[in-house]
Amino acid sequence: MAAAFDVLVIGGGPGGYVAALRAAQLGAKTALVEKDRVGGTCLVRGCIPTKALLQSSELYTLIKGAASFGVTTDQLGIDWPAAQKRKTAVVDQLVKGVEGLLKAGGVTAFRGSARLAGKGAVDVSGEQVQAKDIIIATGSAIARIPLPGAELTIDSDQILELKEVPRRLAVIGGGVVGMEFAAMFAALGSKVTVLEMLPQVLAMVDADLVSVYAKHLASLGGEIHTSSKVSEVVKNGGALQVRFSTGGEGGVVDADKVLLAVGRVPFTQGLEAEKAGVKLDRRRVVVDDHMRTTADGIWAVGDVIGGIMLAHVASYEGICAVENIAGHGDRVPDYHAAPNCVYTEPEIAHVGLGEKEARDGGLDVKIGRFPFAASGRALTLGQSEGFVKVIADAKSGRILGTHIIGPRATDLIAEATLAVQNGLTLEQLDLTMHAHPTLPESLMEAALAAQGRAIHIPNRRSSAPSSTNTENAQVKTQAPARQNREQEMTAPVKASSPPPAPVNVDAKALDMTKGNRDFMLDLHRRMQLIRRFEERAQEQYTKAKIGGYCHLNIGEEATVVGGVLALKPNDYIFTSYREHGHAIARGVDPKAVMAELFGKETGTSHGRGGSMHMFDSERRFMGGYGIVGGHLPLAVGGAFAVKYHKAKDVVFCMFGDGATNIGAFHESLNMAKVFHLPVVWFCVNNRYGMGTPVEAASAVPDIYKKACAYDIEAIQVDGMNLREVLLRTSEIVEKTRADSEPRLVEALCYRFKGHSVVDPDKYRSEEDKVKWRKADPIVAFEHELEKAGLADEEYFKNVRQEVDAEVRDIIQFADESPDPKTEDLYRYTYAGQWENRPELGAEPV
Ligand code: FAD
Repeated sequence: MAAAFDVLVIGGGPGGYVAALRAAQLGAKTALVEKDRVGGTCLVRGCIPTKALLQSSELYTLIKGAASFGVTTDQLGIDWPAAQKRKTAVVDQLVKGVEGLLKAGGVTAFRGSARLAGKGAVDVSGEQVQAKDIIIATGSAIARIPLPGAELTIDSDQILELKEVPRRLAVIGGGVVGMEFAAMFAALGSKVTVLEMLPQVLAMVDADLVSVYAKHLASLGGEIHTSSKVSEVVKNGGALQVRFSTGGEGGVVDADKVLLAVGRVPFTQGLEAEKAGVKLDRRRVVVDDHMRTTADGIWAVGDVIGGIMLAHVASYEGICAVENIAGHGDRVPDYHAAPNCVYTEPEIAHVGLGEKEARDGGLDVKIGRFPFAASGRALTLGQSEGFVKVIADAKSGRILGTHIIGPRATDLIAEATLAVQNGLTLEQLDLTMHAHPTLPESLMEAALAAQGRAIHIPNRRSSAPSSTNTENAQVKTQAPARQNREQEMTAPVKASSPPPAPVNVDAKALDMTKGNRDFMLDLHRRMQLIRRFEERAQEQYTKAKIGGYCHLNIGEEATVVGGVLALKPNDYIFTSYREHGHAIARGVDPKAVMAELFGKETGTSHGRGGSMHMFDSERRFMGGYGIVGGHLPLAVGGAFAVKYHKAKDVVFCMFGDGATNIGAFHESLNMAKVFHLPVVWFCVNNRYGMGTPVEAASAVPDIYKKACAYDIEAIQVDGMNLREVLLRTSEIVEKTRADSEPRLVEALCYRFKGHSVVDPDKYRSEEDKVKWRKADPIVAFEHELEKAGLADEEYFKNVRQEVDAEVRDIIQFADESPDPKTEDLYRYTYAGQWENRPELGAEPV
């Protein structure tokens, strides 16, 4: 048996080899198994060989037009074998390069076919290899369809090995691969005909770009038949004939070669994935948002998990998986700025939303276009076909997407990608100085055009020239004078409604039945929102957007959502500084929560509380508290008030296990019992008070037992199990509501992060973290939903994407919100202006 590894990667494509290199970089003993050549589809049969050959066709086109540049040449021809030789040399050099990198990085390479062979074991062509974590990166294979005559066609692997340029080429399938080969061979003189079943080739590209490509292809004698279904391929003498129908009308295309390019499918053949507990869904390996499969210690990345099947996406996922394995950050892939490039002539590239997608989604957008015909650099290059189109949010100017067709579009997209990834605005783009003459100036001009301020093209009349100053001036004059600045401050925050908890949470209301589906899915979404919010808050903290400390709920979502949703709208929450998730679970607007973290005026406490104090009087959320356990006596005070008012409200006091070691805990429990106060003490026992394990900090590690000292009823619940927390906490809350006696709930959970964002978290063992990661409350709940047939992987993926988009908006809102005014600092308390908030004032005793 071969040596044991920390990480073993199956598949040496861009997903696999990048993951292996990163794992080795992080100090893991790493192995990589490849059955063919490292570099995978990308280097050997995909990105690289196609682009190498496309360079030959591009050069041929350039030289054909060289005379107008004053460059003459006697003989112009295509030496196809030489082009092929160069392509092979480029591929070989890159494959060798990757082999060298793996060797230099200390990655052990196995040549052979891998099969999953039990927990932590992989069989490599008969040899057993052990590894703590395994990453499946087996990529994809060419999709086949049951087309009569398919055996007469060639696929993308075979077309790369053609011995000569075909005189006539038919391409079945108008996706990226098909269109790149169509462009290549049309430029080299083939008569190209494309047959696509959908109404448009390159379905993910905006139609106005596709029509530029179609026109270019037509100028080279190419044809595109859309909405056309191929029925068969037959032999016709020494050649081939493709038969198809368009809208009921038949047609034929004569060709010497027929390329069948109808997509790719995830490849898991020979892996015995399902036998190893790895769930497959229509051939793709199912993963959660951290790239974990359904089997312990097995992860998957790249084409094999479906989604966006591109090399850079595979590499990005590979790095995410490895960093999650290593506990080096908490990486959830964010695909909203994944660029897409099509190496046609002219080139096409896009990132983020397209114009149609944005409009179909009901977004109010501004569009800015700039034609390359107006670009100095494009004219000097002699490549002025195409344009840049920028799509931005009409109100904020945030760039939502960019579509480019034209020279070096595939390089130009990098700047737009940076803008979309970081939520930059049109103005930020146009205020960035762009070198002249360069192609990226076109991006700047498109951003200006979207604001009616383009310099090098006439602006559309309808988009009146604007500047930030004039826009602001307009807003200022239109806004009604406000007496009450409190209103003004909170106005931009769209109030979110309180969580739709069932009137009575009982076992029946929490059954996994169709009737409870909406509620269950809402619980799931709420947990995802808290998770993503917190992950993003962590990033914002490291970007210094959030000051003070930042304590996260990651891993505690079931405890938080289950605990908070056990309450009625009139109950009060007093909580600790790990409070963002508590506030969101309570229905406090996440935008106001993030704005508070950013110290902005639209925050829950108008930016005065920062990361240590949230407040929402309407939701009776009495906020966090910066000192461990300091809020427990406040909860006692709140409960006295409830009792005094003879109300039937419950005071819910959330704190961590660390707080149970201080005097205030004991005094508060004592007072609550002595005066029969309606408090439910809710201990979020995440097993570490700061860096100290509960067992080391407390003589009684089962916190709930401490309540017996005050004759208080107490229970312990599994805090990773949402339904258990919600059901049992509800029971306790209702008992307290009925008899006004204090009680205590201990929810046993685990935070996946250190005590705060800046905590290096060295005090917990890796085994501990891995063990608890496996109990991830969100994944556990997803399994329950899936098992009950209430949701599937596709649904979870959509929720993650929706939540991702929501959190991006939340951050943008916080970013763009105004800072508090210094002159108001003494005018407002955390709670706002008391005289305008009668609901907060106490009645005279
Ligand atoms: P792959 O690159 O497919 O690698 C998987 C590897 O796993 C293979 O080497 C395979 O041999 C190995 N393997 C499989 N099973 C086993 C096993 N059981 N044991 C051991 N080894 C195994 N993407 C872009 O981003 N840009 C482009 O320009 C581009 N052009 C393309 C052009 C073409 C013609 C094609 C076909 C694809 C193109 N792609 C492009 C897509 C890109 O190639 C893939 O998205 C990318 O290669 C996926 O990487 P991966 O690591 O997931 O899988």
